[in-house]
Amino acid sequence: MWYERLLGAFSVDMGIDLGTCNTLVAVRGQGIVLNEPSVVAVKKGTNQVLKGGQAVGWVAKEMLGKTPGSITAVRPLKDGVISDFEITEAMLNYFITKVTGRARFLAPRVVISIPSGITAVEKRAVFDSAERAGARRTYLLEEPIAAAIGAGLPFAEPTASMIVDIGGGTTEVAIMTLADIATCESVRVAGDDMDEAIIGYMKRTYNLMIGEQTAERIKIQIGSASPVGEDTSMDVRGRDMVSGLPRKTEITSAEIREALQEPVAAIIEAVTRTLERAEPELAADLVENGIMLAGGGSLLRGLPARVQKATGLDVTLAEDPLTCVARGTAIYLENIEMWKDTLENNLET
Ligand code: ADP
Ligand code: MG
Repeated sequence: MWYERLLGAFSVDMGIDLGTCNTLVAVRGQGIVLNEPSVVAVKKGTNQVLKGGQAVGWVAKEMLGKTPGSITAVRPLKDGVISDFEITEAMLNYFITKVTGRARFLAPRVVISIPSGITAVEKRAVFDSAERAGARRTYLLEEPIAAAIGAGLPFAEPTASMIVDIGGGTTEVAIMTLADIATCESVRVAGDDMDEAIIGYMKRTYNLMIGEQTAERIKIQIGSASPVGEDTSMDVRGRDMVSGLPRKTEITSAEIREALQEPVAAIIEAVTRTLERAEPELAADLVENGIMLAGGGSLLRGLPARVQKATGLDVTLAEDPLTCVARGTAIYLENIEMWKDTLENNLET
């Protein structure tokens, strides 16, 4: 409607990627304006959000380093399900308010991308949280659709598109056509599980306890899903499980590749399972169109090649995979009048 467009000119309409690891906000004409960890600091042993809801995102992460013991970090969406509604609401409220600022003239319209595995009750909770945070209108968009839009796939056309969005807690695999999801699967194996696999490997092989952040660093620095280039190595520091003392050891990329086999295989299986369930006509389209990878986990070296080998299809890595979903929500917002009727999964006021 023309008046919606007029109102849009006076409000900070935003697209939000509510991820298991990171929350991103994109605003029309400004691109990504917020990119913070989906983390909330709470009093240890409670669900009590610190400082009246101000200890969220980077602030929460920073506080953790400085005040160990009494404070813990909670990732309310860690496994793609909402573990605590209040904490999720505090997080969403903090991010929305941070973007709109105090001096907002008009309440914003908000598009939120949510993992496709979450339940109707959880969807409702996210929706209500956004309304309470001051949204004028709220639309929920399934993450694979947001990712497809962000990656520039022809998701609304009568041809099949396939997206594999590998985040921190979940991997979403979807085949879409005519602006709708034909087949999808959300599995709870993604980037976090790769980190855990590395922790387990270091324990088993070197009797070395390492932290989650160290494991993630190893993954990003030398991790791979299939051999790429020359093997490299790095020093890893941790605590010896026998002596209890700090120690360092050298590990190679070949070892880490071995350590990552299990989560990588689980992700590949989700992809092939989804393909097996596709209608023949859609499967036929995919021979031409191939598979698009998005999400931070898709940045693991050699992963596109592994998916290509397992499926025989062309595999492309989305441009800037970490911001793909957020950019998709912003594009959706721009075209909302055109798309909102076709995308019936939206909950709308
Ligand atoms: P979510 O959408 O669930 O919040 P993201 O798409 O933000 O997740 O991706 C976060 C995941 O991506 C984390 O597990 C992180 O370790 C992983 N990641 C980020 N960069 C890389 C990289 N270069 N190589 C491998 N994994 C990466
Ligand atoms: Mg994501």
